[in-house]
Amino acid sequence: MTVGRPFQPAIAVVWFLLTLASPLFANPAPPHFRDLADWARLHDLRISTRGDLLLLTNRWMRFRFQKDSNKVSFNEVEYRLSDILPTVQGRYRISQRDIDTLLSPLISPPKRRGPPIRMIAINAGHGGKDPGNIEGSRQEKIYTLALAKRLAERLRAAGLKVTLIRDDDTFIPLETRAVKANKSGADLYISLHFNGFDGPGRAGVQGLETYCLTPAGASSSNDAHRHGGSWSAGNAFDRENITLAQQIHTSLLDQTSLPDRGVRRARFKELTLLKMPGVLIEIGYMTHPSDTPYIYTEKLRDQLASAIAEGVIRHKRLLERGKPE
Ligand SMILES: [Zn+2]
Repeated sequence: MTVGRPFQPAIAVVWFLLTLASPLFANPAPPHFRDLADWARLHDLRISTRGDLLLLTNRWMRFRFQKDSNKVSFNEVEYRLSDILPTVQGRYRISQRDIDTLLSPLISPPKRRGPPIRMIAINAGHGGKDPGNIEGSRQEKIYTLALAKRLAERLRAAGLKVTLIRDDDTFIPLETRAVKANKSGADLYISLHFNGFDGPGRAGVQGLETYCLTPAGASSSNDAHRHGGSWSAGNAFDRENITLAQQIHTSLLDQTSLPDRGVRRARFKELTLLKMPGVLIEIGYMTHPSDTPYIYTEKLRDQLASAIAEGVIRHKRLLERGKPE
């Protein structure tokens, strides 16, 4: 018998407790999971399966869930769950966090409290010493500003007020952008960006991504392995953020030929500090020849501005009526 042996059970217990505790420290709000089929029945959705897919449908809605995946499609548009969908004894489980911050607002947009949506803050990504993506002689900051100005015209024509976070080629730190939007009294915040990808498989990477703030305690879509991130000011608008993202993203997909890369979640600095609902849109890739006409040509950029404006107006109508159209 070795001297250490009597202590081994104690070490095992401590190790076991640490193992249990570590996800709790990393993720301050562990999600509570519910049976997805029960949730579907509550909302009069028919349930069917096809291989690893679970479909929930009725006359107006169609959800497509995938086993062990964080992707879900709603009415043929892709979204990301905060928590990967597990199955337990063949039954799909969904986190309460995803019900509250994704599924519920998708099927029933939140009702707006307080006065109607009146002013929109538009952020043209990058500027000044920060060019954003560079592709040959093209700099992202030039095109985000051009789109911001055109979007402002569209929104003003629809009777809304607009605050441009920058209206010239100036560098503004991310924190300052959010603070500026907060001070302006804007009701919504829209940040405009164009993407770029230089890795292997570049020819296959194109399309539209819309980001809203990651719900408190969940992982970002771009960072599936890291938990953490506590509550931030922007999390007060988790439900409104999803509705805004849904309306703008769907409108852009309807009015352009940009492929759908999903409504995603991220803790972008400008979104965490916002005291209003907000989204960040990556409208196509400067590194893909099918996307660049939307970015570089005025005519197609106008189409983007119209589509985003229409998404904002649909969002306004939905929230002010408090029920789906
Ligand atoms: Zn950018």
